[in-house]
Amino acid sequence: MTTEPIIVGIDLGTTNSLVARWSVDAPALIPNVFGDMLTPSVVGIDLEGRLLVGRPARELQVLHPERCASAFKRHMGTDWKTQLGEREFGAVELSSLVLRSLKADAESHLGQPITHAVITVPAYFNEHQRQATIRAGELAGLTVRRILNEPTAAAIAYGIHEANQDSVFLVFDLGGGTFDVSIMDRFEGALEIRSSSGEIFLGGEDFTRALVARVLQSQNLIYERVEHEAPRMVSRLRRECEMAKRVLARDEQATIRIPGKDGELPEGGPTATIRRTEFDTWTESLLARTEISLRRALGDAKLRRQDIQDVILVGGATRMPAVRARVESWFNRMPRCSLNPDEVVALGAAVQAGLVARDRSLSELVVTDVAPFTLGVETCHVIGRDLRPGYFMPVINRNTTIPVSRVERVSTVAPNQTSVRVKLYQGEARRVQDNIPLGEFEVDGIPRGPAGQEIDIRFTYDQNGVLEAEATVVATGKSVRHVVTRHAKGLSPAQIEEAVRRMQDLKTHPREEQANRMLLLRAERIYQELPLEQRDLLDQLLHGFEEALSMQDPSAIETNRESLERFLNRFDGPDGERQDF
Ligand code: ADP
Ligand code: MG
Repeated sequence: MTTEPIIVGIDLGTTNSLVARWSVDAPALIPNVFGDMLTPSVVGIDLEGRLLVGRPARELQVLHPERCASAFKRHMGTDWKTQLGEREFGAVELSSLVLRSLKADAESHLGQPITHAVITVPAYFNEHQRQATIRAGELAGLTVRRILNEPTAAAIAYGIHEANQDSVFLVFDLGGGTFDVSIMDRFEGALEIRSSSGEIFLGGEDFTRALVARVLQSQNLIYERVEHEAPRMVSRLRRECEMAKRVLARDEQATIRIPGKDGELPEGGPTATIRRTEFDTWTESLLARTEISLRRALGDAKLRRQDIQDVILVGGATRMPAVRARVESWFNRMPRCSLNPDEVVALGAAVQAGLVARDRSLSELVVTDVAPFTLGVETCHVIGRDLRPGYFMPVINRNTTIPVSRVERVSTVAPNQTSVRVKLYQGEARRVQDNIPLGEFEVDGIPRGPAGQEIDIRFTYDQNGVLEAEATVVATGKSVRHVVTRHAKGLSPAQIEEAVRRMQDLKTHPREEQANRMLLLRAERIYQELPLEQRDLLDQLLHGFEEALSMQDPSAIETNRESLERFLNRFDGPDGERQDF
């Protein structure tokens, strides 16, 4: 009997990424090397040119934002590039580094190689963005067995597919930088997305930013100006406000230390105390924006809000009480939030991974997906007496449940026209130039005659993202097929190998060194925040630790690390965050 390799489920998020797996009869999250479930989707190159991923990179970002990249998921499927240290990176490469780090964590946790994964993407991701995600997986050494929509994953985590009742429900996902609403249907055991909507620039970071702006304003400072003139002050204050925001999710008030121009936080320095009611007032307009997308999603699904039987909260920012209260009053029902909102997508991915591994995803659980975008062909329009090309004719509409097969009829535009070039596009724009080209092919052998010879264009689109277009000349029955696969625009095996090699050139810290590396970075950050008289002490502790590291003496490393950590925790709380997290 051959045993299937373990397939992990991965939530590759804009702000945080997680990995989980199916374990016996339940999904289980896998902690990273630091013991955290959440790995920040941040990549950095330190001053020695070494690669950092996750929390160490987020630490580096406070002092050296120019050496770090975050929120690159927004650029998936585009040519965007960023310079980090000496090198340029695209979104696929950066994502692959995050995936590689999750893969390594899973491997050391499970004690075996991990080569297969289910990765989630937002429901609105288009073909290029899905392809880019698969490519990021390949670069990380993962075979992507399934791409799963995030709201579908969240619904699976809540076991909605197993409920013994059909229902219409809504997934409300407010993450770090994006807001997604999906209306879903559970019908005869299958899950379908009926509509999706949202904003790509609305999330928890905006709430933090609003708080930063208010605190600066209370000091008679203007955000945009300070950001330019004292970037360290802003990045330090942002951290303070991020912590305060989390405290306010639980307590009625929080205190923020206001850093100086260089980001220093002297003892007895200025502070500001913020009440939750104030915070809620300042961020009210952000919250109000979620309503626009909610209405649009309902409109697209042709539903009223009272038709929604269940609401699922997803995304770390839904931990804010004001968000919950708003959702509750808008729908007049308690939203589901028994699972941690920033973990549910990864849990659902792990359930799906378990089903894929047992080859039961189709028989026991039909997770149908939707085409997240419209697919169609180019046609001409008659404008006055002119024939104008360049118009988009949809064949499969956005939000259609897949697999799906649809036919549209087109006809020749000129007399004695014996061939037609079929150009395939994806997108929502009226003109093809604004949509994404997917390929083209030629149909010939059309009988001579007047204009108006008919051709049927059939599109078939399946769950694995394969689009098959077939054109049939109605008069003769002759047909031509053209297949667009996710890999069509991807890399050849040789190119993948080359890209993987290029990534492997990057020097990574040995995994056991990463924790030490992070501790050093954290200590350096705190050093700058300390009053002068405390700096000496930290300097000594750091020196001792560095010396122990260079001598590679495990017991000396251990004792020096402990005293350094104890010192740092007095300022920052364990692990660089305040205890009340
Ligand atoms: P993404 O899906 O974008 O990767 P997450 O779902 O992990 O993001 O959400 C990250 C956001 O959640 C951040 O903006 C963070 O500030 C916010 N967040 C996490 N925990 C809390 C909390 N306790 N209170 C308020 N906001 C929180
Ligand atoms: Mg998310």
